[in-house]
Amino acid sequence: MIKEYYRPKTVSEAERLFAETDKKVVPLGGGSVLSRSKQDDLCVVDLQELGLNRIEAVGQKLTIGATTTLQQLLDADPIPAVLREVIKKSATLNIRNQATVAGYVVSAGGRAPLAIALMALDAQLVWHPHQNLQPIGDWFSLRRPQGFWISEIQLNLNIELSYEQVARTPMDQPILALALARWRSGRVRVVAGGFGKSPVLAFDGLEDGGVLEAVKNALSDSGDEWASTEYRMDVGQVMVRRILDKAASGL
Ligand SMILES: Cc1cc2nc3c(=O)[nH]c(=O)nc-3n(C[C@H](O)[C@H](O)[C@H](O)COP(=O)(O)OP(=O)(O)OC[C@H]3O[C@@H](n4cnc5c(N)ncnc54)[C@H](O)[C@@H]3O)c2cc1C
Repeated sequence: MIKEYYRPKTVSEAERLFAETDKKVVPLGGGSVLSRSKQDDLCVVDLQELGLNRIEAVGQKLTIGATTTLQQLLDADPIPAVLREVIKKSATLNIRNQATVAGYVVSAGGRAPLAIALMALDAQLVWHPHQNLQPIGDWFSLRRPQGFWISEIQLNLNIELSYEQVARTPMDQPILALALARWRSGRVRVVAGGFGKSPVLAFDGLEDGGVLEAVKNALSDSGDEWASTEYRMDVGQVMVRRILDKAASGL
């Protein structure tokens, strides 16, 4: 339950609140997770009036403000078609209208499609107040904040993304998902998800020769109540071939 609620109008006002040491304050995005929290002493700083809900493309760099909702992101011009499809799979319209990009990333588990795709794209989180840059993969493996709150998420638009998932229904969270990002330099990055607490980096290298084996390794301990390790490894091999074909044909 939320015990104290603050809605600062300026960044410096927010900073003062976060710096107060006698209470533990946490950032509030859309509140879809926090408003359901069972913790009874929550002090929240609502970031919605700080003007962070903007999306900017400068050259090939895309900057997504932390309080941009998933639906605003889906509707934004510079968002590539594949990423749009991934956002649609990530949550229903109601949740997309409420949830912010930063709140989504912070609370995402291993089955969150947009988190899997952003990690393949090697997106960077910018933490306030010192503008510390954190690769999203480091966030998912360590879950260690690099500041008070995420002010924006940066990614490069000059990367081709391919995404595949298997789920019980189109709007279900995936049982297995693979995202493959390919840079013009030849760098290939593959992230697996659909299980566990966070997406898993399966491959990051030049050329895609070792992807099949790398994904097999990444899935070697993926069994849970939704699917066995053997199932994921079998289906994973088919998905790798499909996603490599897609990536080769530029889909
Ligand atoms: C009914 C329901 C259905 C859902 N279905 C799906 C689904 O199908 N697939 C799926 O992937 N997810 C699903 N979710 C999860 C949903 O995507 C998350 O609840 C949502 O993205 C969280 O965003 P928020 O802005 O509301 O976060 P909040 O509730 O505001 O915050 C969540 C966490 O993020 C932190 N946080 C927020 N903003 C920042 C910031 N700027 N910097 C640092 N930390 C921050 C908060 O302190 C908190 O720890 C569902 C949630 C609900 C309630």
